Amino acid sequence: MARTLVTGASGFIAQQLILDLLEQGHAVRGTVRSAAKGEALKTALAAHSDRAAELEWVEADLESDAGWGDAVAGVDVVHHLASPFPMAVPKDPDELIRPARDGALRVLRAAKDAGVRRVVLTSSGAAIAYGVRGPMPAQFTEADWTDPSHTEDCRPYVASKAIAERAAWDYVADEGAGIELTAINPVAVFGPIRSAQVKTSVDIIARLLDGRLPLLPNAGIQVVDVRDVSAAHIAAMNDPAAIGERYIVADSFLWMREMAEVLRAAYPDRKKIPTRGMPDFLVRTLALFSGDVKTIAGELHKRRLLASDKVRKLLGRDLIGAEDAIRASAETLIQYGAV
Ligand code: NDP
Repeated sequence: MARTLVTGASGFIAQQLILDLLEQGHAVRGTVRSAAKGEALKTALAAHSDRAAELEWVEADLESDAGWGDAVAGVDVVHHLASPFPMAVPKDPDELIRPARDGALRVLRAAKDAGVRRVVLTSSGAAIAYGVRGPMPAQFTEADWTDPSHTEDCRPYVASKAIAERAAWDYVADEGAGIELTAINPVAVFGPIRSAQVKTSVDIIARLLDGRLPLLPNAGIQVVDVRDVSAAHIAAMNDPAAIGERYIVADSFLWMREMAEVLRAAYPDRKKIPTRGMPDFLVRTLALFSGDVKTIAGELHKRRLLASDKVRKLLGRDLIGAEDAIRASAETLIQYGAV
């Protein structure tokens, strides 16, 4: 059984990963940005695991060296998930790029100094399928890389993920020799939430349910379940063949209209789930005033498809379906009173 570190332990994906690592008998330490978040995390996870009390946490911020040495001490495997993930587009892209890139390098350097070899990094489909010049390819694979310099098709969050993953591989190829790195590249992650604090991607489902998104833009995303992202992290940590590899984790692509249909079929009494489309001109106009809508405006009519054969082989099974992932998000959002 491994001694593992999960950075960004308070996050949506991290909470699932921590529960799965505990379930499989591993020891888990997490990094959080405050003691209050560490305590809240333990309390939240106690509802799902008898072993939650064993969870250790260390305070560490991606923008500071403090804490990272303590975080990696005595650890066999680092799962690096922490990275800023706001819905809105910041004015200065560096607000996201700097912590994502410098934070990944801090974690890798701390691991190297402590003699930890195995690092599994949560990168993103954002590091693979954006910054596209010209027509969208039929499918992206792990061989593709986002071009962060093409900002028309690459918002700051996307750039932060591409730049951070590239920096991690460059570090390992150079001064970080000996580190055994794997990148996990999920698309939009839905599925069950494990505490009431969770936002990020699952907030899209919350907005569809509670009326904050009254009309449906002509945009869509490829979807994956958080339980599969966690499973990919654990399979990668256990499989030496995963060293040096990237793994896209992605099920089907759904337009927002189709996501709303999944929710309407599951919750026919929820009358706020939108039925009508939002004209493109309205999306583009609202994008001038809202960072959230700007994110959607950049995706109008784009169908990015990422191939996931490689992770299916790693897991030795098929992935949970996109529609099940959406229903699981909705069910748990309702359970936690978040919508
Ligand atoms: P969350 O926002 O729920 O988790 C992000 C975590 O990173 C939080 O624990 C957050 O801490 C932490 N964090 C952010 N900034 C800093 C910082 N400066 N220093 C230390 N910790 C920080 O998002 P997800 O769980 O969804 O994302 C986890 C990872 O997965 C991220 O790397 C994200 O880019 C990636 N990803 C997510 C996808 C998705 O659809 N959800 C898709 C593809 C990749 P705090 O709680 O204090 O804010």
